[in-house]
Amino acid sequence: MGIFWACATPRAHPVVEHIPLVGDGELSRLYGVAETLLHTTADAYEMSTQGRIVTEKLDETGYDVRCLPLAVERLSLDPPRVHWSGPEVILKGGDRHGPSAADDPRFTLLPEHLCIGLVHSGGRVTGAVVRDLTTGTERTLVADTYVVAGGSVLTPQLLWASGIRPDALGRYLCEQTMATCQVALSDDLARRLDDGPATVEPNLWIPVAEGRPWHAQLHRGIFGYAAVPAGVDRRTVTDLVWFSTCDVRRENAVTFSARVTDPYGLPQPTFHFGPSAADRARADDMLTDMTKAATALGKFLPGAEPRFLEAGFALHITGTTRMGADKRDSVIDPHGKVWGLDNLYLGGGGVIPAGVACNTTLTSMALAVRAAEAITAAT
Ligand SMILES: Cc1cc2nc3c(=O)[nH]c(=O)nc-3n(C[C@H](O)[C@H](O)[C@H](O)COP(=O)(O)OP(=O)(O)OC[C@H]3O[C@@H](n4cnc5c(N)ncnc54)[C@H](O)[C@@H]3O)c2cc1C
Repeated sequence: MGIFWACATPRAHPVVEHIPLVGDGELSRLYGVAETLLHTTADAYEMSTQGRIVTEKLDETGYDVRCLPLAVERLSLDPPRVHWSGPEVILKGGDRHGPSAADDPRFTLLPEHLCIGLVHSGGRVTGAVVRDLTTGTERTLVADTYVVAGGSVLTPQLLWASGIRPDALGRYLCEQTMATCQVALSDDLARRLDDGPATVEPNLWIPVAEGRPWHAQLHRGIFGYAAVPAGVDRRTVTDLVWFSTCDVRRENAVTFSARVTDPYGLPQPTFHFGPSAADRARADDMLTDMTKAATALGKFLPGAEPRFLEAGFALHITGTTRMGADKRDSVIDPHGKVWGLDNLYLGGGGVIPAGVACNTTLTSMALAVRAAEAITAAT
């Protein structure tokens, strides 16, 4: 997803989105490492005139509006150009001019390869079987340490296909409720756009806070649901996207079929997911909050009134390979190692054990850095 994501990289709130088992000081250090690797900054869009007008109006209305932390580097203002961070920036340690780990002779990337199974015995993984999708050739890669970071659904899929099936695998699946709408700024606010250059779009954030368990972004949307109708001045349009936490519940799960396979021959996933009563109430409160902010700013674009995104529009799935202190309700230990296997570590969104409202990549990277440090210390 590193070439497709929107690069929002806020930290989780220490109380409302508390990540257990790491410690606040340690988590803050890990976040710092992840922010450096991603080249996270909050100032690439601070010069946006529309952003300033929206911030002032919402501040008056009682919202705590800030610049959204983004994994991005501003290159120029006129024309407005930025460089979004992807894996290539991470491999360069966060400095796109720096040397890349990809040039290290010990680094090999196998494009178009699918891992179809892990071989294991005696509490250790002894090989990873990969298939070249262009030729169908299979081979077994042998290493001291193995890391699976195949995403929140396909990581548990690979473990399940390999006969590694701790009880918590695929359970505790958590996904945020998302609501969105689009507003055209009121005439009063739109007139103030003339105050300065309006070529830089806004990228704003209302952070999670105690009593406010949702994360909010205001920007020009980049997704299909956020297209601006023809004839509307794009500078006057702001997208509001609100994300709420979700209760972590054992019964919310992805399971895998022993009979049916996906197009790549791996076990077919099936999702079992529903909101709790508290999730529903929180979602309603969040929608009310978003509507209040939107109506302070202007009028809804026709067809873009406040709504929840449909089920299945999953962006930030967590929990399916969760970290924990007890192997009865987790898949990995607090340092990323799979319980019962000495040399298998997991990374990615699935390891996050708590319900978080904010975008999850920075938190999963912080936990990945922790696992990488544990691997280095163990080898
Ligand atoms: C439109 C959109 C916008 C988003 N914007 C943001 C944002 O602004 N901020 C944020 O924090 N998050 C954002 N996200 C979410 C973010 O992209 C994901 O949470 C994140 O990518 C999850 O990382 P991951 O490493 O767990 O999985 P992924 O990024 O999905 O990486 C897993 C990789 O493993 C590969 N893989 C899986 N199985 C196998 C196998 N068996 N063999 C070989 N390879 C395999 C997959 O092809 C994939 O490349 C966005 C998501 C979407 C869809």
